[in-house]
Amino acid sequence: MAPLYKQAGLYIHIPFCQKKCNYCNFYSVTVGNRIPEFLAAVKREMDYYRNFWPEYDTLYLGGGTPSLLTGDQLADLLKKIRQTFSFTPGAEWTIELNPDDVTLSFLQDLRSLGFNRLSLGVQSIQDRSLKWLGRRHNTAQSLQAIEWTRQAGFGNLGVDLIYGLPEKSISGSLNLWLKELNHILQYTPEHISCYQLSFEPHTPLALWRRKKLVKPLEERKESQYFLDTAQQLESAGYLHYEVSNFSRGEKYTSRHNQKYWRHLPYLGLGPSAHSFRQNQRQWNQKTLSLYLGDIQKGIIPIAGKENLGLEELRMETLYFGFRTRRGLDLKNFQQQFGQDILNNPPDPAYRLIQENKLTLNGKRLCPTSRGLALADSLALLW
Ligand code: SF4
Repeated sequence: MAPLYKQAGLYIHIPFCQKKCNYCNFYSVTVGNRIPEFLAAVKREMDYYRNFWPEYDTLYLGGGTPSLLTGDQLADLLKKIRQTFSFTPGAEWTIELNPDDVTLSFLQDLRSLGFNRLSLGVQSIQDRSLKWLGRRHNTAQSLQAIEWTRQAGFGNLGVDLIYGLPEKSISGSLNLWLKELNHILQYTPEHISCYQLSFEPHTPLALWRRKKLVKPLEERKESQYFLDTAQQLESAGYLHYEVSNFSRGEKYTSRHNQKYWRHLPYLGLGPSAHSFRQNQRQWNQKTLSLYLGDIQKGIIPIAGKENLGLEELRMETLYFGFRTRRGLDLKNFQQQFGQDILNNPPDPAYRLIQENKLTLNGKRLCPTSRGLALADSLALLW
C-alpha cells in the first residue's frame, strides 16, 4: 500500500436530506428538486481543482444523504470525478447510506461504480429511539440493509450508532444500549462508529433541552457509557482507534478520516465542505443558495481561508493526537514545535501515565481508553 502522506482525500458533500433528524446540525436542505442543479454545479467546481493534488487515495461521499442520488446520477458524478482526479489503485471509496434508501440492486450498482466501503446510518436498533431521534427508518430496514450489503459483496461495512440518549425521555439504559451493541456485533461490521449523543446548537434537541423537556445524562454516567462501550467492543476484537471509532483491526480503520486527524491534504467540494493543504485550510459557502450563486457567476465558492501558524498547528496536533490511539510521536513533535512533551512541563505526562490515561508506546505518547474519554481536555494541559 502506498504511504498515506503522499495522497490526498477527496470529500463531496451532498447537501440533501428527505427530513432533518432531531440531533443533526450538518448542513443540508430538504428540497430534493435542486439535486440536478447541485450536481451540475459540483461538476463545475471540480474543474477549479484539477491541480489541487497529484493523486488521491480516498473518496468520501457524505452529507446530507448521498443515497438520495439515483444510480444514474451517481454514475454521472463518478465519471466526472474519474476524468478530473487521479486515484491510486485500491483507493478507498466510501459512500454514506440511509438504511431506508437501500435496496439490493442499488447496492449492486454502488459496487459496480467502484465503491468499496459503506457507512450505514443505523443509529439505533430500537424503534422508539429512532423515532425520538427523528430518523425516517426503522430497525427492520437497518438489519435488512446490513444483510443486503453482504449479499451485494461489500466486505468493508461501517455502521454508525448513537448512544447515551436521555434515560428518562425514552426509558433507555446502559444495559439496553450494550444489548443493542451486542446485537449489531452479530453482523460483524468491519467498522463501528459510536457517537455519544450531543445537543448541538440550532437543533430540536437543543430546544427541548432549553425548555427542560429533556435532560442530558450526567457526566459520570456519560463516562460509564463510554468506557463500557469501549470495553465491549475491545473484548469483541475491535480496535478502539479514535474516540468514537472502532475497527476490526488496522486494515479497516477509515483511511479517509485519518486525513483530517493527521493534517494530511484533502479537498472538499460542495456547500460547507472544508479543504486542507500545506497548512492552509479553506471552507466553502455554507448554504446551497450561496454556493450555487457563486458557481453560476463563475466564482470559486470559497467563503473563507486561514493559514495555520505554528501555535495553531501545535494545538491541533495535540488535540488530534490525543483523540487517536496512535497518539503523539514525541520526537516529531519536539522537532516541529520545540517542545519536549514528557518534560516540559513534566507534571501532566507523568501524572496521566500514572493515572492510566496515557501510556508510553515506544516513542509515542498514546491515550488509553480512559484517556480517550477525556481526549479534548488533554490537549489543553500543554
Ligand atoms: S443525520 Fe444524516 S439524514 Fe439526518 S439530518 Fe443529518 S445528515 Fe440528514
